[in-house]
Amino acid sequence: MSHRNQQLFERAQRHIPGGVNSPVRAFRSVGGTPCFFTQGSGSRMTDADGKSYLDYVGSWGPLILGHAHPEVVAAVQQAAALGLSFGAPTESEIEMANLLCALLPSLDMVRLVSSGTEATMSAIRLARGFTGRDALIKFEGCYHGHSDSLLVKAGSGMLTFGNPSSGGVPADLAKHTLVLDYNNVAQLEGAFAEYGASIAAVIVEPVVGNMNLIAPRQAFLDAMRGLCTKHGAVLIFDEVMTGFRVGLTCAQGHYGITPDLTTLGKVIGGGMPVGAFGGKREIMEMIAPLGPVYQAGTLSGNPVAVAAGLATLRLIQQPGFHDALTRKTQALCDGLAAAAKQHGVTFSAQSVGGMFGLYFRQQPPHSYAEVMDCDKDAFNRFFHAMLAAGHYFAPSAFEAGFVSAAHSETDIAETVAAAEAIFKAW
Ligand SMILES: *Cc1c(COP(=O)(O)O)cnc(C)c1O
Repeated sequence: MSHRNQQLFERAQRHIPGGVNSPVRAFRSVGGTPCFFTQGSGSRMTDADGKSYLDYVGSWGPLILGHAHPEVVAAVQQAAALGLSFGAPTESEIEMANLLCALLPSLDMVRLVSSGTEATMSAIRLARGFTGRDALIKFEGCYHGHSDSLLVKAGSGMLTFGNPSSGGVPADLAKHTLVLDYNNVAQLEGAFAEYGASIAAVIVEPVVGNMNLIAPRQAFLDAMRGLCTKHGAVLIFDEVMTGFRVGLTCAQGHYGITPDLTTLGKVIGGGMPVGAFGGKREIMEMIAPLGPVYQAGTLSGNPVAVAAGLATLRLIQQPGFHDALTRKTQALCDGLAAAAKQHGVTFSAQSVGGMFGLYFRQQPPHSYAEVMDCDKDAFNRFFHAMLAAGHYFAPSAFEAGFVSAAHSETDIAETVAAAEAIFKAW
């Protein structure tokens, strides 16, 4: 890899663990030197060596309008000039809360935070406070940020409580989390049959984007909704990634499910740090200062970040926005799959709205085990060849990809052509 990126990476590693401020950026999964970026505009970004890339990461989801959209940048500049933070209420927070509640019928009330991790961590505390129960169900391969209760892997038996998946997470905490297989209705029914009365919440990515992309089976989401209702557990849809990415009504609208709580992030900040959690009034009223569940944040609802989010949410409400995004994302998947097929490469792809999954495997996977069955070496080869050709995909076989409204049909065609050339020489 190029000169300046290499120099920066060496410098970065001196005082930043691994040279990065979030681990997947380090390219450990694919090998090589991470690109340091200096600039982005629309569908493209430029690295420290001056090389330009078509970007299919979009800052891991937030950049649904592409880089540095002029209206979003203007909104940020205007807000910044009026003061960076007050630590007191501002009118733009009301606008944001009203808009989120208008777009998502499942939200009666919403609270803003500064990251997806904070949103999910707070939603779980709230669900525990509301139900007076401790146990939590999550699904293997779903990521909900890095709070302690969620960095948990499956226990030794099928329906036994979990073990920490990270150093520093107390086993005493992990033991409250039951980790089940995604899309497995029978297992979920079994868990509720056994532990129903102690389960505070089920948290789920309604479309998974953190073990590559896994689409939910409708029956799985339906069963989850029914079981939570029946047993008095709080259903938390973690829409930090899917929120306003798969459609204007998020995954809950797409699949016709009403969760009790929803967590948001990424797109609602348009590239600035904004997260949110919200849902039913009787649950949300348990939060301080109204209720006993504590949650707070110095920069929560920060006016500059909220301005970026509001500008973004305004633009994505234009008629046909998500249809066009969905079509382009589908065209990318279809194009890549056709190119692979033409040259006999084992490959499949699928998309939901503006997020997609690429798999070096015959068919798109439905579970964590099937994702693990993808050919990781093939992905790594593809990743580096595409990177060299100026197409930036997530540096891991286990992440979803993102298309933005700034990607043109020509951009997509260019990426498909680059992949075709790579598959031809496979
Ligand atoms: C990204 C993500 C999070 C964590 O959000 P951060 O802003 O990185 O803390 C949580 N849940 C899901 C589904 C995500 O994709």
